[in-house]
Amino acid sequence: MAGEAQPDCLFCKIVAGEIPATVVRETDTTVAFRDINPQAPTHVLVIPRVHYANAAELAAGDPAAVVDVLREAGEVAAKEKVVDSGYRIVFNTGPGAGQTVFHAHAHVLGGRDLQRLV
Ligand code: IMP
Repeated sequence: MAGEAQPDCLFCKIVAGEIPATVVRETDTTVAFRDINPQAPTHVLVIPRVHYANAAELAAGDPAAVVDVLREAGEVAAKEKVVDSGYRIVFNTGPGAGQTVFHAHAHVLGGRDLQRLV
């Protein structure tokens, strides 16, 4: 069922503690952990504990979880001290946009000059 943990999902396994991760913050509804292949001094992934394939499906199925993820992205940025310098929140959506893990997640990137994308 939508929202339920998927046995073959890497990020569901991180939520369950079955795969180790460098956890930065946790809430009842989210887990934030360092990206294994960081693209910036701060590169943290914020994921909802519920499983949806991407951010748009999360928004459709559990809108409150999107708010939780975004609020948590802000908390991570504050903890990482990148609020004043600025940071980027990215949701890659679909393989054509570079999404490789199909459990919704926000990348929180900061700590370096972030080249303007749009
Ligand atoms: P995507 O490409 O937007 O789907 O982002 C997936 C991210 O997950 C990539 O930046 C990967 O480096 C990261 N990643 C993959 N496996 C792990 C892991 O086990 N721990 C932490 N990050 C991971």
